Amino acid sequence: MAISEPASVQAPHGEPLVVLEGVNKWFGDLHVLQDVNLSIARGEVVVVIGPSGSGKSTLCRAINRLETIDQGRITLDGMPLAQEGKALAKLRAEVGMVFQSFNLFAHKTILENVTLGPIKVRKASKSAARQHAQELLERVGVSAQAQKYPAQLSGGQQQRVAIARALAMEPKVMLFDEPTSALDPEMIKEVLDVMVELAERGMTMIVVTHEMGFARTAAHRVLFMADGQIVEEATPDEFFNNPKSERARDFLSKIL
Ligand code: ADP
Ligand code: MG
Repeated sequence: MAISEPASVQAPHGEPLVVLEGVNKWFGDLHVLQDVNLSIARGEVVVVIGPSGSGKSTLCRAINRLETIDQGRITLDGMPLAQEGKALAKLRAEVGMVFQSFNLFAHKTILENVTLGPIKVRKASKSAARQHAQELLERVGVSAQAQKYPAQLSGGQQQRVAIARALAMEPKVMLFDEPTSALDPEMIKEVLDVMVELAERGMTMIVVTHEMGFARTAAHRVLFMADGQIVEEATPDEFFNNPKSERARDFLSKIL
């Protein structure tokens, strides 16, 4: 008898949206990305885990070109990443990024934080940008804070604003680099809930996190990185229940 698989393992098999081929990067003598090959389908949610220093942040930063690569190729929606100028600004808009530190503009209101990019980069009208921003702030549960400044919000609220700000650019893919690791424990869930909802709506997401609950709920695939390499990739169930490599077993024994 066929046993139906949990929703979390039915990964989308659509066309690839983000593709890395033979990507290598060095910081001086340090080979920080070692021949990374990776293809992420439209609508796929990929969680990246691994020890500190394994290259997870560098991988994310390479995908929105905050870092250059030394060898290989990265494409977004079939196009090589733009290198400079207006095309680079457009690329950054298409690849939304949420960092550990919320990085909101301190001297702008919450609403302004979300409308600035669409007005400057996307050339949206002020009224259209405001309306879209209000909708997004509502979606992430901070619409009541629209006229406040970042410092007046909790960490969890600020991180939800950061997500709304990235979404306002209508990105093709969202990158999250340890988005909850700077938060007080009671605020982690409110941010993860927003991310789960985003995943359910079909957003393509690359999420560096050690939140196993999120990985099990929302991820189609887990990548385990160590020493600049993707050592293992599997469904969350496979990975957490039956990690194949010694490195992964060792890592999981430390964090679980
Ligand atoms: P992770 O996010 O997995 O902790 P990172 O991608 O931040 O790992 O870093 C991978 C390695 O590259 C680490 O050893 C780190 O110290 C080094 N590194 C990261 N950024 C730089 C940089 N700008 N210059 C030199 N070394 C760096
Ligand atoms: Mg990192």
